[in-house]
Amino acid sequence: MIPNARDTIQRMIADRREALVGLTRELVRFPTINPPGEAYEPCARFLGERLTRAGFAVEYVVAVGRPEHTTAHPRVNMVARRDGGRARPSIHLNGHIDVVPVGSGWTMDPFAGIVRDGRLYGRGTADMKGGLAAAIIAAECLVDSGAALGAIEISGTVDEETGGLAGVAHLAEIGRLTSRSIDHVIIPEPLQVDRVCIGHRGVWWFDVETRGRIAHGSMPYLGVSAIEHMGEILHELRETLQPELARRLTALPVVPEDSRRATLNVNTVEGGQVGERVQSPCVAHACRAIFDRRFLVEEDLAGVRREIDEVLTRVRHRLPQLDVSVSDRLLVHPMETPRSSPLVGALESAIADVLGREATLVASPGTYDHKHFTRIGGITNCVAYGPGVLEVSHQPDEWVGIDDLVASAQVMASAILGLNDY
Ligand SMILES: [Zn+2]
Repeated sequence: MIPNARDTIQRMIADRREALVGLTRELVRFPTINPPGEAYEPCARFLGERLTRAGFAVEYVVAVGRPEHTTAHPRVNMVARRDGGRARPSIHLNGHIDVVPVGSGWTMDPFAGIVRDGRLYGRGTADMKGGLAAAIIAAECLVDSGAALGAIEISGTVDEETGGLAGVAHLAEIGRLTSRSIDHVIIPEPLQVDRVCIGHRGVWWFDVETRGRIAHGSMPYLGVSAIEHMGEILHELRETLQPELARRLTALPVVPEDSRRATLNVNTVEGGQVGERVQSPCVAHACRAIFDRRFLVEEDLAGVRREIDEVLTRVRHRLPQLDVSVSDRLLVHPMETPRSSPLVGALESAIADVLGREATLVASPGTYDHKHFTRIGGITNCVAYGPGVLEVSHQPDEWVGIDDLVASAQVMASAILGLNDY
């Protein structure tokens, strides 16, 4: 073994600081806004051409058959693999290439990649083109170092911001991202350079619909208002279930701290003459609310669903006319990487090595593509680790720190060496 392989790689990455900034900036200049999914193909080809030059075998996987994939907005994923001198381990670095819409409040061009005071600004710098660029520089340096390694894979995938079904989920479903060919996955999402993210809470989005009886608005007592019934349901949730959820704390180290609780958010309420500018006087015959329930790894889904049924039963006792139904919209199970995973250990020791401080294990307040790697691909050694801070993601004047870009590339490369027994 080469005793100073880690030092060598850290120096190589430090020397490529400008190249790392340049690569991030080039990625930011593709306006890969999602929705609707702009500029995916040129961005995927740019990544593929670069990795081909670095000796990777590159494939472009188009999510044919998915409803999101259209001629106007093709869903093109890039997957690259380089087999090393050893059969295993096979380590996959994944970044989503989509970014959320720009929004208002920017003081500079969101797609220029402007550098100021040690930060690179632009939409997607933190979430997560900076992380993807750091992963690529780390992999290129490992290749150039000549160290005998297992396989390294890099993917640039689409649609993470809208659920990832045409991206990582599609690649896992067709068998391209599974435990058969991959042992470890690092997703350089903006979780901060000294933190390793080992999962997220579960998500249950559901619709509640109330149905009433239409009547003339001047004689509302002749009808049944679906909106007033929804109001009773919202009141019951606020008085009974929400305080109970606020008392439940997960042992998963979710950040920010308040997201360690179970939560219920009302995403949408619409009822009556929805979408009509001109209104006629009517009692609302229908109302729909969409809820976002974040549940803990310690809660079971059957119990989570039962609590909602119990709320509706209590409301029905007061309002015998209540006509209500519940339907699912989206379900994501909680994820938790085993703390004994060698990947977690390798990143912890790499962080100590590169940054000289102890790593913190965290979990993400929202979900990310981890779920698809684990639930569809069957890969349990999966974490998010990358530069960028959560708090500036999706915000105006999003940025990533240049020192953090370099340090995260050093940590990823060092962890890969560690997993290869260097
Ligand atoms: Zn992201």
